[in-house]
Amino acid sequence: MKHFPVYLSMTGQRIVLVGGGDAALAKLRLLLKTEATLDVFSVEAAPEIHDWAENGKLRLHLRTPETSDFRGALLVYAAEEDDAKDAHTAQQAQAAGVLANIVDNLADSAFITPAIVDRDPVTIAIGTEGAAPVLARAIKADLEERLSPRLGLLARVGKAFRAAADALPMGRRRRDFWSDYYFGAGPRIADENGAQAALETLLDKHLKADTRDGHVAFVGAGPGDPELLTLKARKALDTADVVIYDRLITPEILELARREATMIDVGKEAYGPSTPQGDINALIVEHARQGAQVVRLKSGDATVFGRLDEEIDACDAAGVTWHIVPGITAASASVAAIGQSLTKRDRNGAVRFLTGHDMKGFADHDWRQLARRNEVAAIYMGKRAVRFIQGRLLMHGAAPDTPVTVIENASRANQRVLNAPLHSLPADLAAAAFDGPALMLLGLSPRAASAALPSLLEQELA
Ligand code: SAH
Repeated sequence: MKHFPVYLSMTGQRIVLVGGGDAALAKLRLLLKTEATLDVFSVEAAPEIHDWAENGKLRLHLRTPETSDFRGALLVYAAEEDDAKDAHTAQQAQAAGVLANIVDNLADSAFITPAIVDRDPVTIAIGTEGAAPVLARAIKADLEERLSPRLGLLARVGKAFRAAADALPMGRRRRDFWSDYYFGAGPRIADENGAQAALETLLDKHLKADTRDGHVAFVGAGPGDPELLTLKARKALDTADVVIYDRLITPEILELARREATMIDVGKEAYGPSTPQGDINALIVEHARQGAQVVRLKSGDATVFGRLDEEIDACDAAGVTWHIVPGITAASASVAAIGQSLTKRDRNGAVRFLTGHDMKGFADHDWRQLARRNEVAAIYMGKRAVRFIQGRLLMHGAAPDTPVTVIENASRANQRVLNAPLHSLPADLAAAAFDGPALMLLGLSPRAASAALPSLLEQELA
């Protein structure tokens, strides 16, 4: 971050603007919304500026400023749209120890003004460090459309009601009340009286309401791309008190959790150090028993190789309620990455999800079945077992040229794809040196490669 966004207190502050033309006008329209006193210096000024001065909204000085005019100001805007004059203003500001902004000159400005979505007291600042004003405008337009024009009113009336709402115990019950106000009643509120009445009714309702019990949502987080979260998963993250997550959950997804949520990493790694399952079960139950809305976030789909049943059993044993939010499993993301179907008429009417973790327990008939032509299987956690898998398949009659595709980091920016025939799979996989989560698709090659079958196809999507 080259620029750090902050909100400056304007109470009792003075801002100086030098300039009287269009750039000055545009900035003044924003600055007039603040509580600060405004001093405008310009030999000539647009009629609007004169009007504002006459109405006491700012002080207009029809001259060039001295350095002493800047002393004690909070900010200075150089808005003469003349490089030399603006540079001079910035120098004077610096000499007076005040931060200066030169309009439309990022490089020489000590601060920049963001694009603002104004629902005072709710304000949203959007900055791109000058990289893409188009983007800032698009984001602003999008937010303007999405946020009710009455949001500011709701927030203002809500703010004055905070002391009354303290009658509810701090934490979830108070939060539920506010969330009911802003998102339940909010959209139907027309004016200040309506907002006040809604607050009183809601407070009464929430004071009488029974306290909500803790609950556990087992949520599938998908393969890593945050856009592959379901709306239900997002909602669960939005309202969670506690999020308990695994190693495979990407930071982008964790970012979406409610800011106040307690985040607990139980980093289960296939072969490395991990929190013992018993401890995880106990942790989930403990938080739910304290009344928390717990999100147990699991990569992909929570029901696929996720030891879900043990956690559900622990909840049941403790009398904690739970539900499952399905997610997109790695197999779905992986076939999507290579443009293939998991099942296909006249090729495979069934598909198997296998784990490479405990394949040693497979019986011979399982391997015979898997070794047949046109069989498709998604092998999770299979990287380390690749030699064993290859050996068993060949031993049970699989064709050496059976296609296998390994997808690493499916759906993420660093996704890579390796397509190899079964006979050279272990060597090709070792050469590719995948170190992220990888899924092996037995019996499938990327659609584009299925004709040519090159032995190694690596693809960087980033
Ligand atoms: N519940 C998860 C699977 C957990 S087991 C799901 O439904 O996807 C962990 C294994 O899943 C990893 O070893 C890897 O084989 C696979 N996996 C998870 N995310 C992946 C991704 N983004 N790309 C490729 N494989 C992934």
